[in-house]
Parts: sequence; structure tokens; C-alpha cells
Amino acid sequence: MFAYPWEGVTLVGTTDVDHRAAMHNEPAITPEEFSYLMMAIDFQFPSLAIRPADVLATYAGVRPVVDTGKADPSREGRDHAVWLEDGLLTVTGGKLTTFRLIALDAMKHAQSLLPGWQPDLQPRRIFAETPPLPRHPALTSLQQRRLTGRYGRHAAQLIAHANPDELTAIPGTETLWAELRWAARAEAVLHLDDLLLRRTRIGLLLREGGAAHLERIRAICQPELGWNDVRWHAEQQDYLAHWQRHHGLPPQHLLPDWRPPR
Ligand SMILES: Cc1cc2nc3c(=O)[nH]c(=O)nc-3n(C[C@H](O)[C@H](O)[C@H](O)COP(=O)(O)OP(=O)(O)OC[C@H]3O[C@@H](n4cnc5c(N)ncnc54)[C@H](O)[C@@H]3O)c2cc1C
Repeated sequence: MFAYPWEGVTLVGTTDVDHRAAMHNEPAITPEEFSYLMMAIDFQFPSLAIRPADVLATYAGVRPVVDTGKADPSREGRDHAVWLEDGLLTVTGGKLTTFRLIALDAMKHAQSLLPGWQPDLQPRRIFAETPPLPRHPALTSLQQRRLTGRYGRHAAQLIAHANPDELTAIPGTETLWAELRWAARAEAVLHLDDLLLRRTRIGLLLREGGAAHLERIRAICQPELGWNDVRWHAEQQDYLAHWQRHHGLPPQHLLPDWRPPR
């Protein structure tokens, strides 16, 4: 497992255990996984005395591997598989490093459904050069680099659309308030969890999913999203309930005693 810096916090993981719960339920960290990670961190960094109360958030996912009959799923290869069946294209397996191959393969399998399909499909360059941002007095050079790295040629627009007080970091994170406005305006946000967990990651970086900041987030994003008050309240309730179920800590009473003998 790893303990590495990410977005101003430390990310600890992963575990690799069989997923026995129903596949249509979104996964969450189990008490056993939580205890295992806490025990390992305590073993490796005992002087830090890290306790469950220090944990800001958790997340879990299910890795789809192609079953080739290995007894231990962790030993399965990382090859991907793609198939088209009654109009449904399924993509499974694969690795981060093979995402372009997977995408090309998916396109090839879907060619019968794609008008204007061209058989000489070639990947384009991923990293087009981005013109450097003009120096902005409200931003540090690190913040400018962060914006260029994340938003590429859209970084200048993100800054131009921000209110002056939004070019500051949300306390406890490296994310600027302006990134929320941009995501709400330009990044196809359908629900509040798209905005806080995926377009930005502040729901994983702040206690209680950033509940303490929801009023300001609302002031910035509600007009951009065009949601009325009823919709905003419903989204907020759903988000906070989702966060508790899938990104909070397992209930204390379910945690096995993880403290190693000293
Ligand atoms: C739990 C887990 C652990 C993994 N661990 C590793 C690992 O350690 N190492 C490794 O190499 N690989 C790992 N993988 C595999 C790796 O994440 C995938 O192979 C890789 O992300 C595939 O890239 P992709 O671009 O094809 O798909 P994705 O990364 O899934 O990207 C697809 C994107 O499309 C978006 N999208 C979907 N529908 C729509 C829509 N209608 N409109 C707009 N956007 C849409 C999604 O939000 C998503 O951002 C893991 C996967 C999982 C689930």
C-alpha cells in the first residue's frame, strides 16, 4: 500500500480484497479495510499517532478484471476486453496506461453504430502545448501552474470568469473557489456529487464532504447551474447522505480493534 501526498492531504491505500457485495450497489470502505489501513499506518509511522478521528474521508471502487480462471483475482492480468451485444458496448479490464488503446478498441467495436466512421482512425497528440498564462496578481506562480496543468487552454477563461474573491483557495485545499464556478458552468454537472466529488475533489479533501462550505458553494454555483431553491436543497441532502454512506468512516462500533500490541 501507499501513503502519498495528493491535493494537500495524504492518501493512504489501496487494499485489494474480493468484492462480495451486490454489484449494483456503490461500494464503500469496509470496517476491515479501514482497520487494516489504520494498523499499517500506525505500524509505519507510530510517532504520528494517527487515529480514526484524523481521517478526512474514504473512498472505494471495484476493479473490473477479466476472469481467466486464476484462483486469486489479484493475479489476473490487466488486459482489457470489449464486446458489442444488442447495441450495448461493454468495456472492462484495462489499465490507466492503456486508456488510448482501450478507447480505440471501443471505437472499432462500435463502428457499425457510428455514422461517418473512418477506418484510418489515429490517436491525436494528448498534450498540445498551452500558451503560458499572463501573470495574474491574485495568483501565486504555483496556483497558475496548477490551473494550466489542469485546465490547459481553458485556464485563462476560468480566471476571466471568476469573481475577484474567487481566486483564493478553499481553506484546507489547493482548489480555488473559481474552479467550482468553472465546473458548474462548463463541465456538464448533473448533480452536486459530480461537482464536489468528481469535477473537483473537495468532497474528499474536507471533513464531512465540505458541509461547512456549502453556503458559499451554493452562492457561486446555484446561479451557474440554474437550479431553484427546492432543487438545491434536494441535491444537498442527497449529496450529504451519499457522502456519509460512501465517503465517511465506518461506524466506530464495527471497527475491529486495530491497535497493535506495543
Ligand atoms: C477500483 C479500481 C482500481 C483500479 N486500479 C488501477 C491501478 O492500480 N492501475 C491501473 O493502471 N489501472 C487501474 N484501474 C483501471 C483504470 O482505472 C482503467 O483501466 C482506466 O481508467 C480506463 O480509462 P478510460 O479512459 O477508458 O475510462 P475512465 O477512466 O473510466 O474514463 C471515462 C470517463 O468518461 C466519463 N463519462 C462516462 N459517461 C459519460 C457521459 N455520458 N458524458 C460525459 N462523460 C462521461 C466518466 O465520468 C469518466 O471520467 C482501476 C480501476 C478501478 C475501478
